[in-house]
Parts: sequence; structure tokens; C-alpha cells
Amino acid sequence: MIVQLYSIMNKKDILQGPFLGAHVSISGGFENSIKQAKILGCHAIQIFSKNQMRWSASDITDQAAENFIEKRETGKIRYLLIHDSYLINLGNPDETKRARSAAAFSDEIKRAKKLGAEYLIFHPGSHLGIGDDACLKLISDSLKSAVSKENPSESNLMILIETTAGQGTNVGYKFEHLAKIIELTSNESIGVCIDTCHIFAAGYDIRNKESYNETMGRFENIVGLRYLKAFHINDSKTKFASRVDRHANIGEGFIGTDAFRFLLNDSHLTVLPMILETPGGLNAYKKDLETLSGLFQDSSYM
Ligand SMILES: [Zn+2]
Ligand SMILES: [Zn+2]
Repeated sequence: MIVQLYSIMNKKDILQGPFLGAHVSISGGFENSIKQAKILGCHAIQIFSKNQMRWSASDITDQAAENFIEKRETGKIRYLLIHDSYLINLGNPDETKRARSAAAFSDEIKRAKKLGAEYLIFHPGSHLGIGDDACLKLISDSLKSAVSKENPSESNLMILIETTAGQGTNVGYKFEHLAKIIELTSNESIGVCIDTCHIFAAGYDIRNKESYNETMGRFENIVGLRYLKAFHINDSKTKFASRVDRHANIGEGFIGTDAFRFLLNDSHLTVLPMILETPGGLNAYKKDLETLSGLFQDSSYM
């Protein structure tokens, strides 16, 4: 099924969606991510540009970047997304720790530019006791200065705020939080990535047509669809509004397959990259991609 879908895409135009993809590993070198995309038949991938559990990494050499960009072209990867380090908290109330996060985030922008990525995805942050509003202000300040310092638009890089499940003291679990950061930073390089598992766990239902339309309508009213640039497509191991972030394979969680059918066939969204971050490695990704391809029914692509 998936092979069929992509051969249809290639025949028409590679710039048409849906751009299904997956978060793949860079272990052994950046170009290994392209090999995995090829195995999966994907034209969109997400990677970490360094070990996501470490603060620092050696700089990406010109040679490594050139090699990667060349391989990416051969592999016809339309969208490259980079996910930032899990350690970064741009809204940390401790000034020293926040400065460390800001420096690491600047480095993430540099690396994403060097690799020619379209999008750098980040989790907004955790308030650690100071409350959502104060944290959103700190995040916006950190983001604003990182963007003005590193100028992502120079290489057409956009920074995407990811929706969160609202676990612990994480902010970003309400669409209003994303709108606030966008308003306070007021920069054309800022957009949004919706994670289906996260919004579901945060209390935005998408399981039937009515709830899907309502949730997307709320996003349009509060944030604006023009800011929506990417999706993480994950089912959820935890129940609706659990505020707990645990990804499940497609159709094996509490969201179920209908939501993904609405998403894949939503004509506003088919040009956007849709990245799996589901458990189980390449074989599980293959199965998830097959499931998703089977849900895609828009006859205009046939
Ligand atoms: Zn995600
Ligand atoms: Zn998650």
C-alpha cells in the first residue's frame, strides 16, 4: 500500500502530499537518516542534530553538512525537521539555567541552518512553580533574542513551537499558550507543530468528525492555521485529557484510526509534513505508515 502511495506521488509531483515521515536516528552519521527514509519510502524526516540528552556537541563540519545535503537531494527528502534537545527549558525561572538553555538553543538554530532544515521543533518549556503566564513570558523573551541573534530566516528555517500534553509543569498544552508566544515574539520565523498524542492528552478531542472539526476550528480561531507547519502523528497510550505523554502506534492507542483519517484527508493540511514518533523502530514505523497510507483516500491525488 505504501509503495503504491509514493509511486503515485512520484509520478505526479513530489511537491504534493501527504508527506508522511518518521523521526529517524543519526547514529553513525547524518546520512544514515536518509538511508532509513529510503527504507521507509518517506519524503519527510525528523532527526536530532546531536545527542538529545547532552548539552554540547562538536560543531558540524562543512564536509559533513555538504555530504548530508547531497544525500538528502538524492533521497528526495522534501521536509527535514530537527527536534531540539530535551534538556532545553527556555522558560526556566533560574536565570543561570535559562541562559544555559538559551545558549544551547542558539546552537540548535546554527546546526539546523547548517543542515538546511526547514523546521526546528522545540518544546516550549516548564514553569517549575512560577505558573504558566510568567513562564510564557520568559520563553518568549528567550526565543526572541535567540531568533534575532541567529537569524533563521537567512536559510528559510522556521522555529516551530510544539503542543505539549501538559505533563508536570510543562506549558504549551493550551492553544492560548502558543498564541501568546507567537504574539510576544512577533516574528515571521515562528510557527507551530501539533502533536496529535499531546493535544489529545491535553484535552483536545479528535476521535470523531465533530470533535476533530471543533478542535481544528479552535486552533484556527486561537492560533491561526497559517502558523501550522507540521504534525507529529502519534496515537496515545494514555486516556483523553490524562495530561500524560506516552506515544502509541497508530490505531493501538486511545485516539484510534478515525482521527488520522480526518487529518490525512483534510485538504488544508495535506501539504504539511506528518512525522511519526511512535515506538518500535523501523519495522513498527513501516506498519504505522502502511496503516496511514490505507487511510488516505483523497481521489485528487490518484
Ligand atoms: Zn512530538
Ligand atoms: Zn510526546
